[in-house]
Amino acid sequence: MFDLERTFVAVKPDGVKRGLIGEVIRRFEEKGYKVIGLKMLKVTREQAQAHYGEHEGKPFYERLVKYIQSGPIVGMVLEGHQAIAGARHMMGKTDPLDADMGTIRADYALVKEYNIVHGSDSVESAEREINIYFRPEEICDNWSNMAELVIECLRANEQII
Ligand code: UDP
Ligand code: MG
Repeated sequence: MFDLERTFVAVKPDGVKRGLIGEVIRRFEEKGYKVIGLKMLKVTREQAQAHYGEHEGKPFYERLVKYIQSGPIVGMVLEGHQAIAGARHMMGKTDPLDADMGTIRADYALVKEYNIVHGSDSVESAEREINIYFRPEEICDNWSNMAELVIECLRANEQII
């Protein structure tokens, strides 16, 4: 069953400084997720606190809030079949040492404090995070990417229901 989801993904400041904006977007795009929102921005303290509220009180919290504000990020909204879990699968585990080879964090990061990318972890987080960084009119979802065109084509040929 087609399970259409939206997720918030960001190239964090270390990813931007490392010149990995294109590489990160390329991986998600080539996988088949549709980019329906995209912007470079400087995270405010309010946005950082709202984004990482679940980690308040943890030893790494203050450092995390400073890190996400330490340079521009590139935030995006991806849409596709099971996009939330799928994008996190492609990112790999939080600590690059635990991440599977071939994932973004395993391939490009050395430590969990600078792990290149963020991705929402649930439907609720995705909706909350998208609203922190994007206004509704900044989401451009009225166009078809290749994955959708393939589904349309299969439907037209009655190869799927
Ligand atoms: N983080 C950190 N130290 C830790 C755990 C997490 O600096 O011990 C940072 C890291 O950048 C991570 C972010 O906090 O990506 C959010 O942590 P979470 O456990 O939500 O990991 P994620 O969902 O990003 O994999
Ligand atoms: Mg998380």
